Amino acid sequence: MTQTLSDGLLIDRMARTVDGVRMFIGGEWQSAESGATFDTVDPSTGRVIASVPRAGSIDVDRAVKAAADAAVAWQFTDALTRAALLRQLGALVVENVDELAWLEALDSGHYIDKARDLVMALPLWLDYHAGLANIVGGRTIPVPGDKLSFTLLEPLGVTAHIVPWNYPLLVMARSIAPALALGNTVVVKPAEQTPLTALYFARLVEEAGFPTGVFNVVTGFGEEAGAPLAAHPDVAGITFTGSTETGRIVAKLGADHIAQVNLELGGKSPVIVFPDAKIDDAVEATIQGFCSHAGQVCIAGSRLFLHDAIRDEFLGKLTQRLESVRIGDSFESRTQFGPLVSSEQLDRVLSYIDIGKSEATLYYGGGRPSGVADGGYFVEPTVFIDVAPTARIAREEIFGPVLSVLGWSDVDDLVRQANDSQFGLFAAIWTQDLRDALSTARRLQVGGVVINDWFGELPMAPHGGHKQSGTGREEGLETVQGYTQVKHVCINLSDSLVDTSDWAAAPL
Ligand code: ADP
Repeated sequence: MTQTLSDGLLIDRMARTVDGVRMFIGGEWQSAESGATFDTVDPSTGRVIASVPRAGSIDVDRAVKAAADAAVAWQFTDALTRAALLRQLGALVVENVDELAWLEALDSGHYIDKARDLVMALPLWLDYHAGLANIVGGRTIPVPGDKLSFTLLEPLGVTAHIVPWNYPLLVMARSIAPALALGNTVVVKPAEQTPLTALYFARLVEEAGFPTGVFNVVTGFGEEAGAPLAAHPDVAGITFTGSTETGRIVAKLGADHIAQVNLELGGKSPVIVFPDAKIDDAVEATIQGFCSHAGQVCIAGSRLFLHDAIRDEFLGKLTQRLESVRIGDSFESRTQFGPLVSSEQLDRVLSYIDIGKSEATLYYGGGRPSGVADGGYFVEPTVFIDVAPTARIAREEIFGPVLSVLGWSDVDDLVRQANDSQFGLFAAIWTQDLRDALSTARRLQVGGVVINDWFGELPMAPHGGHKQSGTGREEGLETVQGYTQVKHVCINLSDSLVDTSDWAAAPL
């Protein structure tokens, strides 16, 4: 069934979903101080869907002030209450799944069924992190003397969440959930390409009953809104997900006021296929790995290392399976592969395809697909073979559905090539030999490895990168470090002051 986006339906839904499209600051729906707006478009058609406030540093300042004013009361709100609010928010997300999925598909180009799945996953993230609110604590320390020494894990205060456009809701949820659960207040800056679902989500935060100022959203461009947010001296923690290039800028802005910075950055993930792999499964997972959300995924498996012994069989099956991938409009229910997010991203991916043609052999795709809207930002799944390890398409993050196939026959050489990258986010290994699988997994310089599978992000497992793919971890118990700081408390339990007459024996 095709859901037709007639203008009437569009306007009606927009009225119910983002009503006038304003930012959520200090519990109020606000325009930018300057009155400026920018347009966000539907990437399936290129059509403008809404005008959104274009925040500048004055708006960012207001949002940070609101979050700072709310910080102490939120820190000392019972953990049980914070957890209950997050779970209530999860319930509201489920009640609003149709609107959230519709907006996510419309703004980011996720096809509607996938957008729905992504929305329905949010309560799991909210619930897992709500649980952390009541579990996380400090430790007692066996210091010498009649003393009790222990640590408290305290929130950082105001946290900034700079979100990319590829998974707008999920990436926001995975960092705001632990931040809020652990007693921090939040300012979200969604990507300029995909601001709408964060604003709708803010409505649900309001409806759930979170105190004023605990959760704020500013919309706008990176340099105008993201940079002042990262640079704001009252922001104690910054979580950024996006390109390595921008992550470097954000880390420097945070360093100027000694903020704690979590970065989840780019990747060029190797998918390694041993000769004994289950080829059909590996083919299927490889396609998911580089075609999921049209390759606009930080962990995308964009470097395929095929053992020479199975190369031809694998490539034959890959081509056959790619023929059946259904490319189309986000609202066409048969779609499995939607558009790129923007015309800029389309230009970027097409220019990498041109580069690929000059440095390797184009094996599959490489063009714009037929049978989709002319104005949409579609590109075919594209496979290059005979790719040298030095080729740009084998080294640079493309963020589109472009797969570089490299060969291997010696495992040491394979590991060297797989690790020869500035990135270290993720890897997949296909083999039925446990020893090969585990020994290779240990040697790869990445933050996550899957064996005989493809990635399914989950709130209970840590996710993040080695090398220039990032610092800190999202999800799992490891996320706690990103949103807390340690305070050491020591109590003298004896009746009298510890003898301090021997100053020379004192440690300080
Ligand atoms: P892309 O280049 O693919 O659009 P980015 O990594 O630049 O991705 O963007 C991710 C997020 O970072 C977005 O919310 C964007 O607005 C924001 N951003 C971009 N530039 C800056 C900057 N200089 N300072 C802070 N945030 C930024």
